Amino acid sequence: MDKSIHVVVIGGGYAGVLAADRLTQRDDVSVTLVNARPNFVERIRLHQYVGGSDDAVVGYPAVLADGVRLVVGTVTRIDVADRRVTLATGGSIGYDYLIYAVGSGSAEPGVPGAAEFAYPLATLEEAQRLRPVLDAAPATAAVTVVGAGPTGIETAAELAELGRAVTLVCGPVLGPYLHPRGRRSVAGRLASLGVNVLEGGQARVTAVSREAVRLGDCRELPSAVTVWTAGFGVPDLAARSGLSVDALGRLLTDETLTSVDDPRIVAAGDAAAPSGLPLRMSCQSATRIGAHAADTVLRRIAAEQPAPLNLGFFGQCVSLGRGAGIFQFAHRDDTANRFYVGGRPGARLKEFVCRSTLKHLAAEARKPGSLTWVKDGKGVRARSGRP
Ligand SMILES: Cc1cc2nc3c(=O)[nH]c(=O)nc-3n(C[C@H](O)[C@H](O)[C@H](O)COP(=O)(O)OP(=O)(O)OC[C@H]3O[C@@H](n4cnc5c(N)ncnc54)[C@H](O)[C@@H]3O)c2cc1C
Repeated sequence: MDKSIHVVVIGGGYAGVLAADRLTQRDDVSVTLVNARPNFVERIRLHQYVGGSDDAVVGYPAVLADGVRLVVGTVTRIDVADRRVTLATGGSIGYDYLIYAVGSGSAEPGVPGAAEFAYPLATLEEAQRLRPVLDAAPATAAVTVVGAGPTGIETAAELAELGRAVTLVCGPVLGPYLHPRGRRSVAGRLASLGVNVLEGGQARVTAVSREAVRLGDCRELPSAVTVWTAGFGVPDLAARSGLSVDALGRLLTDETLTSVDDPRIVAAGDAAAPSGLPLRMSCQSATRIGAHAADTVLRRIAAEQPAPLNLGFFGQCVSLGRGAGIFQFAHRDDTANRFYVGGRPGARLKEFVCRSTLKHLAAEARKPGSLTWVKDGKGVRARSGRP
């Protein structure tokens, strides 16, 4: 059949790959995935990359359907009127529909010295910059991890398990998402690994230098390597292209993930803000939003009404070194409940989740449209019920 409809997906992360694979269900659709790198990055293993237990990279053939054309390049502009994306190399690609799945990266630290002396860990390139610095630092050198969300906790535990002297600067509380019971379990594991956990109003870094960090109470802590994990930001491509975005820069969409400016543009993953109420940035939601974004495009092509997004979370999974982890279960509204699986079973569960995520992508590549349970599942909260 003539492939008369062309869909371009920008961003080959969890959301973009799932969407691209799923779009190949129709014989009359051709799909081009534009990604800045030649390989798929398992961002959820970047702390392992830094610790040396995983390379966090998978070849696209393992996760991408045969019918998807991969273009390695960076999109610098979306020309909405002409339905065309411009590449950094100067070329451009036209589209009938566009899926915007550019993901997330580090947030601007906004703290003196952090941009020069701290090492963020939200992208492969950042992890590649950090690892040799850690390798070159003496084994006893003080390492400070700033931010105690899942990325900070995972990084602190990974490095402490390797024998590093780690201080985790949390801000008000360790693992804000966690239930107090889960938090106690995480604190216990970090203590057993020798991590110095600083929590409370003054436990925030206010300045970073080459060999120290300053805290809210003006104390200076020696820090040979400072790792910055406090928050994610998103690329400004949508904003630069004149599309409506939320305060962080995520593409504003309706509940079907369609841009509020243009029905031909659909967003997925960390860079999407459906109805201005984005889901928690996570690969857990990125794959499911990716599937939904593809379905929205497919329904529009079929002249059907796209369905509203209807998904939620089932918890948060955090590794605590290679020997332990926690699966913190959540209520339907994404608040943690009292149930968790910790210790070694928690580590096994986390590893299972990481592998399953890749398996889902590979399954969708082999049989596009086959993933049904990852989206619109029963027992998940309708987005319209979100506070
Ligand atoms: C260390 C770490 C651990 C994490 N652990 C977990 C976890 O355990 N569980 C969980 O649910 N989440 C976790 N996350 C968060 C998770 O990785 C992200 O939420 C997820 O990757 C978002 O998927 P995405 O597809 O939206 O974007 P991404 O995976 O970020 O993919 C976006 C892709 O778009 C490409 N791109 C961006 N701009 C352009 C452009 N202009 N042109 C072309 N390509 C472009 C990027 O290069 C990238 O390949 C973790 C994150 C980190 C950093």
